Amino acid sequence: MTQNLSPFTEAHQLFRKTVRDFAEKELLPNKEKWERERFVPREVFKRAGELGLFGVCFSEAVGGSGGDYWFKVAFLEEIIYCRMAGLAMDFMVQADISTPIIEKLGTEEQKKEFLIPALRGDLIGALGITEPGCGSDVMAIKTKAESVGDDYVINGAKMFITNGSRADFITLSVRTGGPGHKGISLVTFPTKTKGFSVGKKLEKMGNHSSDTALLHFENCRIPKRYLIGEENRGFTYIMQNFQGERLVAAVSSVASAQLAVNDTIRYTSEREIFGQKIASMQVWRHKFADLQTQLEAARRLTYHAVALFNAGIECTQEISMAKLFAGDLAQDVAYDCLQAHGGYGYMEEYDLARFTRDIRLITIGGGASEVMKEIIAKRMGIGG
Ligand SMILES: Cc1cc2nc3c(=O)[nH]c(=O)nc-3n(C[C@H](O)[C@H](O)[C@H](O)COP(=O)(O)OP(=O)(O)OC[C@H]3O[C@@H](n4cnc5c(N)ncnc54)[C@H](O)[C@@H]3O)c2cc1C
Repeated sequence: MTQNLSPFTEAHQLFRKTVRDFAEKELLPNKEKWERERFVPREVFKRAGELGLFGVCFSEAVGGSGGDYWFKVAFLEEIIYCRMAGLAMDFMVQADISTPIIEKLGTEEQKKEFLIPALRGDLIGALGITEPGCGSDVMAIKTKAESVGDDYVINGAKMFITNGSRADFITLSVRTGGPGHKGISLVTFPTKTKGFSVGKKLEKMGNHSSDTALLHFENCRIPKRYLIGEENRGFTYIMQNFQGERLVAAVSSVASAQLAVNDTIRYTSEREIFGQKIASMQVWRHKFADLQTQLEAARRLTYHAVALFNAGIECTQEISMAKLFAGDLAQDVAYDCLQAHGGYGYMEEYDLARFTRDIRLITIGGGASEVMKEIIAKRMGIGG
């Protein structure tokens, strides 16, 4: 495709090379081990922090390098290159999901205690929104933070929390007021707090190198100075925070689906059946042409959303469309590319099998496709 309209400058490409070198030398050799062990060691976070990968888009005031959002895109595209969505998810939670809201609304003390060490990779962060009884319906959260003097006393549970079993802190949603969206707050929660426990590490269909846990809070007392922003405004903050999360989901959908298509073209260009290469059969040549065309459309939609986000322009609709379109397309890519691999695609040793499992999450996590459609329809002025 045309390269001269690329949004990436020489500085982005240099950074991209740093990430690719890190991926090739320090991540990829461990892929099978970490997927098998369902875990990425803590030192990997430390190393990524040392290389400045987590802080690339954060301000210098909190130890970041103040880069624009295209650095984030370059980072994700190169991490995705490892074909280990669990690891990519761990990193996204660290740098794009649990921490940006602390930079935006946190106190100097919260930044010093949680954000700055997280960007260095010294602390691991998690985001705790989903509960056993509610995910899509964020307004329904029940985990309660009762006001007791200068403290909150927290009781409840959080479900499906990425980095949950070894996070040092959680950007946590709690109910501080009445029912509905007006009674929700966000706090920074240190996991060393008495009464906190990791229920169980959950066995998942995919994203194996990422840990996902059920968390319990029993009379956990934290000081009110850990409140992020204003009390009872948490729902708005969560919705703002979702924009970054959904954008990185769209970027990683496109990047990983592109790798799957590339891998499949390579495989089917070598595999011969009925006296010819699979890729040379018209049905597959046309399939790859279709997929590449749709991928290009998904990339353009996503990059458009990135450009708006980067410029600080409100772009909830564009981000929702990008996540919806790229996430759904990635499912088609997984289905078709595995089909083209035949039985080999079903084997663990082929990246396609892992991709097919891992990518299934993208239309569910961080706002399901149906939630994206609700947002888009509302912004089109169509009431429900
Ligand atoms: C591996 C993994 C990691 C995760 N990591 C985190 C994390 O770090 N932190 C965190 O807080 N959460 C995390 N989640 C939770 C994730 O964001 C939720 O699973 C997601 O929001 C959906 O919530 P739910 O699973 O409760 O499904 P439900 O809310 O029960 O929804 C079920 C289905 O209903 C449909 N649906 C939803 N809304 C509508 C609608 N308006 N109209 C019609 N149909 C609809 C969708 O198809 C949806 O998949 C993670 C989940 C997984 C699986």
